Amino acid sequence: MAFDAIERESMEYDVVIVGAGPAGLAAAIRLKQVAEATGREISVAVLEKGSEVGAHILSGAVIDPIALNELIPDWKERGAPLETPVTDDRFYLLGPAGSAQLPSFALPPLMHNHGNYIASLGNVCRWLATQAEALGVEIYPGFAAAAPIFDEHGALKGVQIGDMGIGRDGKPKEGVFTPGIEIHAKYTLIGEGVRGSLAKKLIQRFQLDKDSDPQKFGIGIKELWEVPKENHKPGLVIHTAGWPLDDKTGGGSWMYHFGENLVSIGYVVHLNYKNPYISPFDEFQRFKHHVEIAPYLKGGKRLSYGARAITEGGFQSIPKLAFNGGALIGCSAGFVNVPRIKGSHNAMKTGMLAAEAAADAIFAGRQRDELTSYEEAYRASWVYKDLQRVRNAKPLLSKFGTALGGMLGVLDMWTTTALGGFSFFGTMRHTKTDAESTEPASKHEPIAYPKPDGVLSFDKLSSVYLSNTNHEEDQPVHLVLRNPAIPIDHNLPVYSEPAQRYCPAGVYEVLYDERGANPRFQINAQNCVHCKTCDIKDPSQNIDWATPEGGGGPNYPNM
Ligand SMILES: Cc1cc2nc3c(=O)[nH]c(=O)nc-3n(C[C@H](O)[C@H](O)[C@H](O)COP(=O)(O)OP(=O)(O)OC[C@H]3O[C@@H](n4cnc5c(N)ncnc54)[C@H](O)[C@@H]3O)c2cc1C
Ligand code: SF4
Repeated sequence: MAFDAIERESMEYDVVIVGAGPAGLAAAIRLKQVAEATGREISVAVLEKGSEVGAHILSGAVIDPIALNELIPDWKERGAPLETPVTDDRFYLLGPAGSAQLPSFALPPLMHNHGNYIASLGNVCRWLATQAEALGVEIYPGFAAAAPIFDEHGALKGVQIGDMGIGRDGKPKEGVFTPGIEIHAKYTLIGEGVRGSLAKKLIQRFQLDKDSDPQKFGIGIKELWEVPKENHKPGLVIHTAGWPLDDKTGGGSWMYHFGENLVSIGYVVHLNYKNPYISPFDEFQRFKHHVEIAPYLKGGKRLSYGARAITEGGFQSIPKLAFNGGALIGCSAGFVNVPRIKGSHNAMKTGMLAAEAAADAIFAGRQRDELTSYEEAYRASWVYKDLQRVRNAKPLLSKFGTALGGMLGVLDMWTTTALGGFSFFGTMRHTKTDAESTEPASKHEPIAYPKPDGVLSFDKLSSVYLSNTNHEEDQPVHLVLRNPAIPIDHNLPVYSEPAQRYCPAGVYEVLYDERGANPRFQINAQNCVHCKTCDIKDPSQNIDWATPEGGGGPNYPNM
């Protein structure tokens, strides 16, 4: 059957929002608030590919409540799950056998965490969804937006929901095939988070990144632990840089103590790393054995595991935000403040700004034009200032390494803070994509990672088990190779096929026959935790992450 010939049903809304993350849900709430304040009606639908809201959300998270204070000022009374205020905020430089704590007065105030809250961002989204539904927003979990739809003038008209019931062979399965409906809207807001699959297509189609630097990314790998009461220090926030990464590889860790004896611990490796033998997963596993870290986890139990890429390009990588019929909000555009390791406040605020622009346009009788007032509102907002002040932190790390680059970054942030955004470095550029940063394996030595001990460190498969990942097995592989020959014919000889190591879920394997010959590339798509790293880091840019059947993927409980 030719899928483009299928007769699809459609539904109409004023605004459709793709993604029930902080950006999408804040946008939905704001649209309803504006309508209510002006005594009008506006219909809003939110589509979410996870089986429920929050199922695919993975974050630290220390949350700056600045946007939430604006959106729902009485969030405390309404029971928002931000129960643990930060009380102790530490930054360590790690060496293999010891550590040095940086005094907090050495760090610019923007990096301090007092006044922020430790929480599960997934649970915050679950709560935001209840607030949105109470205002009349329609939320559809288990519905993946698979493709953008355009009108006769080339404007974004809405999205097509993914088909259900197509077999691995690409053919509709007897009795179960359900064609995905089309959702049409006056404006479509793209809040898919980092490396959105629709956002990627729209950025390309509308050339939204033609005047910005390439987007940069990291991969964040997280575990949630329950630790003995005596190890738990509610409100403690620890960040580290240094070991186990070398000076040329950017990244660092977090450990947040919150809730009832819960510890969120994780590691971010910047995806511009050069050495294709690096395994971010194994770096994280060995990090937990550090003398500064291990005592907190001793006697504890790992409850959950997951991974997600994080946008890191910041200020100079923000693409054009609005185009005819739609706009990018949150991490689909990339509003993470890297030195603060925070993006949820900016995701919410940009969702709110886009919502205000869309509501104004709709009430003025417009539709599917460009929401230029959203772009203007972003430039006038605190999000712009938040990102502008830290714009050189990541390029300095990339250029000078962790020690010198980190020091220069701190000095630069002091300067921009004192001088209203001015920097002696001007605005440094990101010159390469992360895929282009990968060097041939011949320039590097393989890394011998320690074996996991099953107490503090674990292997990939037992980890993925804790992410509750589930995909219908009889469906087309959602990790689409543009050229199926590249992994073995090019990536393996040149880069020792790094997908085997950068994927935190063991999805990609190179298998050999019993003689150790005839390598073949295997994709265990059912294990995919939707982190998007393969779409970003494959040196040949040969992998397109597409939406699997709605509801598939991880089922994170409190991540
Ligand atoms: C490891 C890590 C640690 C972090 N730590 C912090 C922190 O401590 N503090 C902080 O403030 N920020 C932190 N961030 C950043 C923060 O998580 C993001 O900035 C924020 O989640 C972005 O919100 P968003 O709504 O844009 O996207 P997301 O939170 O990613 O939400 C996007 C939603 O859209 C859904 N979706 C995607 N594509 C589709 C589709 N095609 N159809 C339907 N649904 C779709 C996804 O399933 C998801 O639910 C961290 C990020 C990472 C990865
Ligand atoms: S297959 Fe890609 S998106 Fe899925 S877990 Fe692996 S790297 Fe992440």
